[in-house]
Amino acid sequence: MQAIGIDIGGTKIAGGVVTELGEIVAERRVPTPTGDSQAIVDAVVEMIRELQSEHEVVAAGVAAPGFIDAAQSTVYYTPNIPWRNEPLRARLNDELDLHITIDNDANAAGWAEFRFGAGRLVSDMTMLTIGTGVGGAIVAQDKLLRGGFGTGGELGHVRIVPDGLPCGCGAFGCIEQYGSGRALLRMAGEVADRGGATGKALADLRTAKGSLSGHDVSALLASGDAGAVEALTELGTWLGQACASLSVVLDPQLFVFGGGVAQAGELLLAPVRAAYLSHLPARGFHPEPDFVIAELVNDAGVVGAADLARLHVSTL
Ligand code: BGC
Ligand code: ZN
Repeated sequence: MQAIGIDIGGTKIAGGVVTELGEIVAERRVPTPTGDSQAIVDAVVEMIRELQSEHEVVAAGVAAPGFIDAAQSTVYYTPNIPWRNEPLRARLNDELDLHITIDNDANAAGWAEFRFGAGRLVSDMTMLTIGTGVGGAIVAQDKLLRGGFGTGGELGHVRIVPDGLPCGCGAFGCIEQYGSGRALLRMAGEVADRGGATGKALADLRTAKGSLSGHDVSALLASGDAGAVEALTELGTWLGQACASLSVVLDPQLFVFGGGVAQAGELLLAPVRAAYLSHLPARGFHPEPDFVIAELVNDAGVVGAADLARLHVSTL
């Protein structure tokens, strides 16, 4: 049984037909339309229709970057795109003749890692996706934890700084403001502002281009630039502290980091591990979880959304 997975991101919508083994046999990608949410719904409908016309599928799972209800039908709230109480499943059902489920994008990615990627050998795994926002997925005792109202695992909105920076969710001091790709850009800007040798490459690039982009920071990281590494170390230190607190609640054997920023690999994981160990309650007396980078990289959302939709159909 194959299923379609769709991952709605801030810049692109990715889709694919996925087998029971998590293999993608067909793929589509379009830029996320800007403007009203109808344009996004239209793009998703078109993608599903196209894939459905060429492949035998039993369901489609659609992953969206926000708080989803327990019935997997409504997007309650998206911090980084303006969806509020969006009846996404009903709108897709109006247009499509296929079983549809809606899932949180990080839940989809985390489920894919648990089933087919970095988490396949553990029972308890916590994933953080580090992109525009910070997404979370919790697998506890082999099950995806959704909570009572469906919105469990929104780890990007755990408060780590009392009265800290305002967040797109309406609260203050969330992990997302200290551990996301956007936060990394802010930190890189601060390193550049401090002047001196460390921030010179960042400052020069910012002057030359008018502003820094995520690609600029990634490129500097890849070349080992001290300023970019300093910014990433700050980010990783916040994330490591957050993981220490999450350990108390979830006690995973494995933390997985996904999303664009996680492509920095060990440069991100080293400060995460160091901060985790120095902030862990009962440190020295608590088994050490592993910290790894996601294996499915860009495909995790598509693979996980499809697998969750397929499993949903098989339990009906
Ligand atoms: C949203 C999450 C989402 C994450 C990554 C956060 O701001 O609250 O639902 O998973 O961004 O897209
Ligand atoms: Zn928040």
